[in-house]
Amino acid sequence: MRIIDLRSDTVTRPTAAMRAAMVSAEVGDDVYGEDPSVKRLEAMIADLADKEAAVFAASGTQSNLMALLTHCQRGDEYLAGQQTHVYQYEGGGAAVLGGIQPQPLDMEADGSLNLERLAQAIKPDDIHFTRTRLLCLENTFGGNVLPLNYLAKAHRFTRERGLALHLDGARVFNAAVKLGAPLGDITRYADSVSICLSKGLGAPVGTVLCGTSAFITQARRWRKVLGGGMRQAGILAAAGIHALENHVARLAEDHANARNLAEGLARVRALGVNPDAVQTNMVIARPDPKLLPTLAEFLARHGVLIRTRDPVLRLVVHLDVSEHDVLTAIQAFREFYARRRS
Ligand SMILES: *Cc1c(COP(=O)(O)O)cnc(C)c1O
Repeated sequence: MRIIDLRSDTVTRPTAAMRAAMVSAEVGDDVYGEDPSVKRLEAMIADLADKEAAVFAASGTQSNLMALLTHCQRGDEYLAGQQTHVYQYEGGGAAVLGGIQPQPLDMEADGSLNLERLAQAIKPDDIHFTRTRLLCLENTFGGNVLPLNYLAKAHRFTRERGLALHLDGARVFNAAVKLGAPLGDITRYADSVSICLSKGLGAPVGTVLCGTSAFITQARRWRKVLGGGMRQAGILAAAGIHALENHVARLAEDHANARNLAEGLARVRALGVNPDAVQTNMVIARPDPKLLPTLAEFLARHGVLIRTRDPVLRLVVHLDVSEHDVLTAIQAFREFYARRRS
């Protein structure tokens, strides 16, 4: 049975062409700075993001942590949205390993943080308080693209208050493709940006952190400390290069598939899907939470996998979900609800 995995865009498997690129990758010892494929990948992304330098990391979690450890010292704090990955899904790494305190804040529905509320959260220079150093934003957030004028305002805000701005751009290429803008139009507003290759871009492993040369030199030191010095990592970087060359523009297909999925599911009232809310590769549904385990079990029997961890149901399309798969998935959802009515 063909499996249609809508749990996340992390589940993509390398294509035959990507595997071929990995097999023939030129490699060297990257900890010595001698892996030509890693160096090429880092240069490519730095160029795309319009930053001076970049460093290849094992995961988005590691890359975000390298950024936090580089921007902040022990006793510093960063501001981030309550539901952001860096605050909620990374094991509190910055606090655990860096003595860096998070200041989580309520978010707007579009993934932005209200700047007035941010201003109130910045601590005065006083021995009672942590030193507020950094603002972390996430783009895309829940499939939503942060508007460029918001990023511009947030950037100005951080300049006025002496903060750095880190962008968790795990899916920032989805944002760029959606906006039809060069990546640099988004990343110019951030001092550092973390970009995942292992989400919609379809690489098996890897994230790249970008910033100034001085910042990346320090982040590279932290990567080694965190156990992320990966020797002949060019095997992995080759997958990333292949993804950048072949899998960026096609994200538009994922966005169209997500829209189709949402339109098909919107006809099932009980799912509470709003197709107009779909911006990139994610569809948010709100089935009755009590039904979710039964729904997931039924769908799995039809080859459709969904995630039941969250209060809302997030369906993600990606490289391994075709236009036809979307129709199959819609059919399976409809059948489940049709049976409940009869
Ligand atoms: C996936 C993801 C990360 C990093 O996840 P890893 O699994 O560690 O690669 C970071 N931020 C966001 C928004 C993500 O979606």
